[in-house]
Amino acid sequence: MAETIKDYEVIIVGGGPGGLTAGLYTSRANRKTLLIEKYLPGGQIANTEEVEDYTGFELISGAELAEKMTNHAKSFGLEIVSDEVGEIWSEGDHKMISTKSGKLYETKAVILAPGGTATKLGIEGEDRLNGKGVSYCAICDGAFFKGQIIAVVGGGDAAVEEATFLTKFGSKVYIIHRRDQFRAQKIIQERAFANPKIEVIWDSTAEKIEGETRVESLTIRNLKTKKTRDLAVGAVFPFIGFVPNSNLTREELEKDSAGYILTDEKMETSVKGIFACGDVRSQLVRQITNAVGDGTTAAVAAEKHIENLEDKSRQTSSASSSAK
Ligand code: NAP
Repeated sequence: MAETIKDYEVIIVGGGPGGLTAGLYTSRANRKTLLIEKYLPGGQIANTEEVEDYTGFELISGAELAEKMTNHAKSFGLEIVSDEVGEIWSEGDHKMISTKSGKLYETKAVILAPGGTATKLGIEGEDRLNGKGVSYCAICDGAFFKGQIIAVVGGGDAAVEEATFLTKFGSKVYIIHRRDQFRAQKIIQERAFANPKIEVIWDSTAEKIEGETRVESLTIRNLKTKKTRDLAVGAVFPFIGFVPNSNLTREELEKDSAGYILTDEKMETSVKGIFACGDVRSQLVRQITNAVGDGTTAAVAAEKHIENLEDKSRQTSSASSSAK
């Protein structure tokens, strides 16, 4: 059995903007804080080419913003480890966290900021050709498809924005959307409509991805005419939303119907002492700006939670000494 590490008063799970901001605030409040991140700090922004909607930064690369946020939080004392959380549970007033590398932590408050993972289309060829033309990250893989025809599936911010980005590489980019209008923000849509390399195929779904060793074609079906057709493409990028990483706790947290964690105005989940922020939380929009706001609130609330635990333990010890 691993030795229990009790060095940290707050443990944050996930190093995106929400987690890093929470870590900045708890560290700045002199609460020893550890942030556990599976990959590199930065979360989704680390894989975003450019960010233009984070107040105060007219245009900044995602990687640079991730680095700035990480260094800023570290400058207040936040410690970051690369590890994957296995399970989180309560023992009395404290929280326990096991990790895949075999570590066991005991802490006073947990802030969940683990984001989510890309939703798959669930169609033939998608898994077999994953990494061979099927990709869920335009910034990571777009450059592999220089001069090729690319298909993007979806109609939200991610699909329409990444389609525009992919025109830097592809000779043509199709956006396949199942309805006749996008849900993406208007400004993102306008940019795509003005791009001569983009062709939108409305009312259509992706049916099958084919290719011997690499993606060669995508079969799509028009939902109105029911007709199918094959598009000769070298890459397929599904951007159809994501699944929140909301199943890390042994105790069942209250969630919405899509699996996002429900919190109160303090970002506290249905389990006392466990807070949630950013994309894993049930809310209207999932942007850097509100993840940062969530992280701030969660940190301040976690700090108050720890103060309450300290008051409780002081009261218990003074009651037991006056009883002697
Ligand atoms: P999203 O907003 O949930 O959009 C998912 C899109 O995929 C929708 O258009 C949906 O169609 C379509 N879709 C879902 N399941 C499908 C399926 N099985 N087959 C075909 N199409 C399917 O997801 P997202 O675009 O990944 O964005 C996630 C969050 O991140 C959002 O809150 C978004 O605002 C935010 N985000 C923001 C930015 C930015 O501000 N620059 C960039 C990226 C993401 P319907 O429209 O018909 O439902």
